[in-house]
Amino acid sequence: MGIESTAHTWSVGIVDFSGNVLSLVNDMFIPEKGGIHPILVREQHLNNFINVINRTLSEASISIRDIDLIAFSKSPGLGPILKIGAQVSRLLSQLLDIPIVAVNHCIAHVEIGRLMCKIEDPLTLYVSGGNTIVSAFESERYQIFGETLDIPIGNLIDSFARDVGIPHPGGPRVEQLAKKSSKYLSLPYVVKGMDLSFSGLYSAVKRLLESKDFRNNYNLNDVAHSLQETAFAMLTEVTERALAHTGKKEVLLTGGVAANKNLQEKIKYISDEHDARFEVVPVRYAGDNGAMIGWTGILRYKALGENTISDTQINPKERMDQITIPWRS
Ligand code: AMP
Ligand code: MG
Repeated sequence: MGIESTAHTWSVGIVDFSGNVLSLVNDMFIPEKGGIHPILVREQHLNNFINVINRTLSEASISIRDIDLIAFSKSPGLGPILKIGAQVSRLLSQLLDIPIVAVNHCIAHVEIGRLMCKIEDPLTLYVSGGNTIVSAFESERYQIFGETLDIPIGNLIDSFARDVGIPHPGGPRVEQLAKKSSKYLSLPYVVKGMDLSFSGLYSAVKRLLESKDFRNNYNLNDVAHSLQETAFAMLTEVTERALAHTGKKEVLLTGGVAANKNLQEKIKYISDEHDARFEVVPVRYAGDNGAMIGWTGILRYKALGENTISDTQINPKERMDQITIPWRS
């Protein structure tokens, strides 16, 4: 049983030791207004966790006694939310007297992609509400080749959406708006070395919306289009440079923003240029989900065995490149 609890989604997945997902149930916190408030999310997760666990078990037609291993997301994420996942998992492990393993959420995104897309050694672009990371396996770790220096790409899109009255999460609606325009308004394009910065882009988009030219010389579709073009071109540049540097022959796009067709096209284009196979993680497994935690827990357990309870402390800031990956040679 894999338990995901790093941010908005409490998700439980049941996976067998061959990588078949028997069931997956998500409960997502959707803010009425504003962003993700950890204390409100924690309340929702606390109210619903047992319900989600029970639904996952009944979907898989098994009982809690059939569970052999508990895996949970220990990092990175919002402290109060990570804690619930850790506490529920420790409790289950001790009550059921079964092993527990602690998993890094970002590594889990890569591992479920490798499993679902049947690929071996990808360069991965992981784009979500909380993360923006280009990584690949090298020298025993998932090394980070590029990342955001400030806000994540999904957060940028959701913040823009919120400013124009689109409910959370705004990504799919913003994509639809952007499709209706091909008018590009100049916006700041900020790539520093291999890293990205989106906060200046967000401020510039706000200025476009507040300008007297808005609705006279350009409309909301034009702004959405320009925002996507700029941000996605930045992501594509960094991904391509990492691809050239690592020489990987597979590219994996994952995270909630991977659903975006425009981003998919751009990453596919550079993959083709470098003769690399391009894969997008199926949408059910691209966003935060308990199945990815369960599967990564299995890989970790097979390679290293269980964690002791004192080894299961949360680590809100842990980076994926701090962890060695013994199940890959
Ligand atoms: P995650 O954090 O991985 O659960 O993904 C959620 C993020 O994906 C949110 O920021 C959404 O706005 C974003 N998202 C979902 N669908 C799309 C889309 N079609 N285009 C852009 N962003 C999207
Ligand atoms: Mg995620």
